[in-house]
Amino acid sequence: MIEILSGENSIGGNFVRIRDGDKTLVFDQGIRFDIMSRYYSMQVTPQGIAELRRLGVIPKQEWYMDASGIYISHMHLDHLGLLHNIPSETRVYLPSLSVYEDMKERWENSSSWLQLVAGRYFLEIREIKPLEEDENGVIPLPVSHSAYPAYAFLYFGREGTILYTGDFRVDGFLGEERFLELIGEDLLTYLGENPDVRVDTLIIEGTNVGSNRTPISPDDVANMIRRIAISQKSSQAPMLFTLHGLDFEYAYLILEIAKELGFDCYVASAQIAKLLERIPEPPVEINLVEDFVRYPTMREKVSLEEIGGNSFILTSHREIVDLLRDPSFRPAMRSPVAVLSEPEPEVEEALEYDVIANWLSAMGVQHYRMRASGHYYPYQLTRIMSVVRPKDVKPIHTKSPDLLKRLASLSYGST
Ligand SMILES: [Zn+2]
Ligand SMILES: [Zn+2]
Repeated sequence: MIEILSGENSIGGNFVRIRDGDKTLVFDQGIRFDIMSRYYSMQVTPQGIAELRRLGVIPKQEWYMDASGIYISHMHLDHLGLLHNIPSETRVYLPSLSVYEDMKERWENSSSWLQLVAGRYFLEIREIKPLEEDENGVIPLPVSHSAYPAYAFLYFGREGTILYTGDFRVDGFLGEERFLELIGEDLLTYLGENPDVRVDTLIIEGTNVGSNRTPISPDDVANMIRRIAISQKSSQAPMLFTLHGLDFEYAYLILEIAKELGFDCYVASAQIAKLLERIPEPPVEINLVEDFVRYPTMREKVSLEEIGGNSFILTSHREIVDLLRDPSFRPAMRSPVAVLSEPEPEVEEALEYDVIANWLSAMGVQHYRMRASGHYYPYQLTRIMSVVRPKDVKPIHTKSPDLLKRLASLSYGST
């Protein structure tokens, strides 16, 4: 029995429960930021777990009853949720233990609700192994998304095979070959190569369904960055990039463009530096900026003053304002340009976006918003359906579940 207890009609906050004999599996247990933003602000902050549950911001306690395993598709908070909310002993499968440890360290001592992201002592936390069937009959399949690592889950149940996509896009920043090399076989490639896998129920996200957002592809973004970077070369001023701390694919793209166009790369954020450490052989040399990357590392660090023109500076949304305010950086700036990667709608940082934009304008920095969605676009549904060929479709992570169902059945008919 499949129950979508949350996320059926909202972007984010997925909670899928599958009961199969004596086994109960949960896919994602995210925060409903749409509800959260209705009740909380800078002045009004959460009082604790019980209140968040009562308002429906996080899953109810009884939803977890008898859970034999909780699978998290990726570490965006609208999927990871607050592990502290899990009431009793169970196994939690996470995409990355090191990302989890980092989050814990960052938020452990905060006085905000973020300290509740970490789970309690009785949880058994394991890292997901991609492309391997585990003890529950679940195979995690890598997908491209704006958070890395991200997985879809294929579950071979007694009453049928279920595929839960999590959040995913069809075209990523890495391209097929590089994705295979750095991350592994992705969802659609896997299903294409294993035609014997019959999906009975497809639980598919539909973030962009019903939205009129311009369908900018990762290739479009790459070309726009190239154009801006080429025009910036003659000005001898650095180019700033803000990134989300989990957006591995986008970070990789920026390094590749730096290499292609001959820019030097600097990183002014511990979080982004750690993200880049996950690349086994970066395409360019990465220089760490000392006041921003404080954790100990073997790498040589440089000071802000040493950064000249012809350089890319990668930082986080949080730290770009600190960077611009730093007195040792400001004199060096003639006409820097900033490219802000616009966060996904469901990500909490979205709240600060306009504040950052205001700072950049006040500092005389021209900036561009760059937004390649981490989610597939509706026109790509035909392709997805032709590979997955499910018997039944259940929409999730969308504001237009009926439209998604209709589009899915129409595109199915056409293949
Ligand atoms: Zn999401
Ligand atoms: Zn996501």
